[in-house]
Amino acid sequence: MQKEKVIIIGSGPAGLTAGLYTARASLNPVIITGNEMGGQVSITNEVENYPAFPEGTTGPELVDLMRRQAEKFGARTQIDEVVEVDFTRGTPFYLKTHSEEYQADAVIIATGASPRRLGVPGEEEFIGRGVSFCATCDGFFFRGKDVVVVGGGDSALEEGLFLTKFANQVRVIHRRDELRAGATLTKRAQNNEKVSFIWDTVVQEVVGNGAVEAVTLKNVKTGAQDRLATDGVFIYIGHYPNTWLFKGQLETDEHNYLITDNLMMTSVPGVFAAGEVQDPVFRQVVSSAGQGCQAAISAERWLAARGIE
Ligand code: NAP
Repeated sequence: MQKEKVIIIGSGPAGLTAGLYTARASLNPVIITGNEMGGQVSITNEVENYPAFPEGTTGPELVDLMRRQAEKFGARTQIDEVVEVDFTRGTPFYLKTHSEEYQADAVIIATGASPRRLGVPGEEEFIGRGVSFCATCDGFFFRGKDVVVVGGGDSALEEGLFLTKFANQVRVIHRRDELRAGATLTKRAQNNEKVSFIWDTVVQEVVGNGAVEAVTLKNVKTGAQDRLATDGVFIYIGHYPNTWLFKGQLETDEHNYLITDNLMMTSVPGVFAAGEVQDPVFRQVVSSAGQGCQAAISAERWLAARGIE
């Protein structure tokens, strides 16, 4: 059993920033990365709204810089996944990964969120064979092909625009006739000749034979059904928080987001949370990083009050 002062679960902007701050507070933190170092932003191609990058940057670059900065001050990143926790008996908290068992005086949860699925036939079957949740990872395979993007938010448009670098045609399928995305991306998508919109429409099925060949569509206003030939289906319909690990141990809201107080503490004293796992509202790289900083400072003060420094 490895004994630690602070364990951070997750390596996105919230986790890495919490790592930086707790490392600088000499708490020698361990960041257990999860199966994707850097979390969601690591698969984002362009990041144009993180302060101090007037020319923009990429998700992988930002993650690499954040990780190096945290490690420079002594944070230890463990490429592993937490598979079990026990917060019910108070401190020290118990955590188990694939390869190790830990005791921690304080825990910062930064497990983020994962892409929501449509839940239609064919979606699961064709993941990796035409269905994707990551344009940055898979866009390259669609050079010269036709793709559809499902969703009307910032992610759908941002990733749809990225796909225009490869694809012939990008059709955005949205269930309403008004986008949720902000003005900048909306304008950019509307001005891109490769992007077109299919309004008031939902995907009913992804069909193919070995690989995606088409989607069947339904107009939610008229009820009309259609079949649209496509090589790829990129799905951007929001996210769900990664909280299954804490089920029954920490309080959540009705959408399963962890509830934190204004010091980023969860319902268990000594367990803090930061980033999208507890934030259904802002969900930006900069807000997640800020929350990681807040959770780290709170954890440091909470530990200091108990004589752990
Ligand atoms: P989002 O804003 O929640 O948008 C999800 C989209 O998917 C909405 O248009 C929604 O339709 C649609 N949708 C949800 N469930 C659906 C279903 N079952 N079937 C069909 N469509 C469905 O999610 P997001 O685009 O991932 O963005 C998440 C957050 O990150 C937002 O705060 C966003 O501003 C931010 N973000 C910012 C940037 C940027 O600033 N560059 C880039 C990416 C993301 P309705 O509109 O009808 O609800």
